[in-house]
Amino acid sequence: MFNYIPQEDGVTYSLLQKFTSCRVAARFYLEGFRGVRTSEALNFGNACHYILEQIYRSKNVSLKKIDMYAEEWEDYILEKDPGANPDALGDVTDIAKTVLKVYMKVYRSDFKTWKKLSVESTFDVMFHGYRLRGKRDGLFTKTNKKGKENRYLLEHKTAGQINEDLISDSLSFDPQNLFYIIGTELQDDSCVRNTLRNVIRRPQIRFKVSQTWEEYKQEITKDCHTRPDHYFKRFETSYKDKDIEIYRKELFELLKEFDKWNKGESPTYRNTSACAGKGWQCEYLPACSSRKVDMLLANQPLFTELEED
Ligand code: SF4
Repeated sequence: MFNYIPQEDGVTYSLLQKFTSCRVAARFYLEGFRGVRTSEALNFGNACHYILEQIYRSKNVSLKKIDMYAEEWEDYILEKDPGANPDALGDVTDIAKTVLKVYMKVYRSDFKTWKKLSVESTFDVMFHGYRLRGKRDGLFTKTNKKGKENRYLLEHKTAGQINEDLISDSLSFDPQNLFYIIGTELQDDSCVRNTLRNVIRRPQIRFKVSQTWEEYKQEITKDCHTRPDHYFKRFETSYKDKDIEIYRKELFELLKEFDKWNKGESPTYRNTSACAGKGWQCEYLPACSSRKVDMLLANQPLFTELEED
């Protein structure tokens, strides 16, 4: 169907996720189309992700370095996307920076007790003849109370709302964690059974016309200090061999199904339940609703997220 061969070009978790949620979205993606998406939530998430990457990569972290990484992030985006609004980007990055300065104090022990193995490292492995690719936010070891060292896969997420029960339940068979565990084990020939999902809440406090920007940031800082449990959540999940085995089989079946579809041997149809929900929408919604692709970015390379910085 497309000039794309999963066995050679590789399959990422996000591509498989697109395929399972809507085949039309997966087809747009493989044809090189990407949505032009900018929202406060997305920009906050991207800014946090970049700054966290630098923090965990750095040997000597300090609050001052957060300012430096935030500036780097803004420069990078403005250079990459000349159409970006510098004021809006500056504001959202400033909020991300404000929250992360408290984050660093709350989790200062990360930088003392975690043994860092890698940050933003990729895997590229063969699994039943299919090339699996991915980039992990972090891989580190932690020592438990009995003195045993365990490996952990780290994944950062940002959210406006955090439903703890829902996250805990779904993490017990989370396909992203399991995909990354399989990729890591095949790449490093090592055992990983633990994951840490690091969730940061985007402040919902609105800027008031009666306050200055500095006062607004101080209000956010104060709220983060007062309610760290509200803003910063961590979900540790340990998987058993049986969990991995079940997912291994599911992944193989899914890859075969994906391969068949990619060859044009199974149909492409819309899944309208994946078009939009509360606070989110599919990046291809404008194209599906207008039946035109003009408003999408075209000719985008596959897997830009795997490119080295
Ligand atoms: S807007 Fe809906 S139908 Fe169109 S690609 Fe996205 S999920 Fe699929």
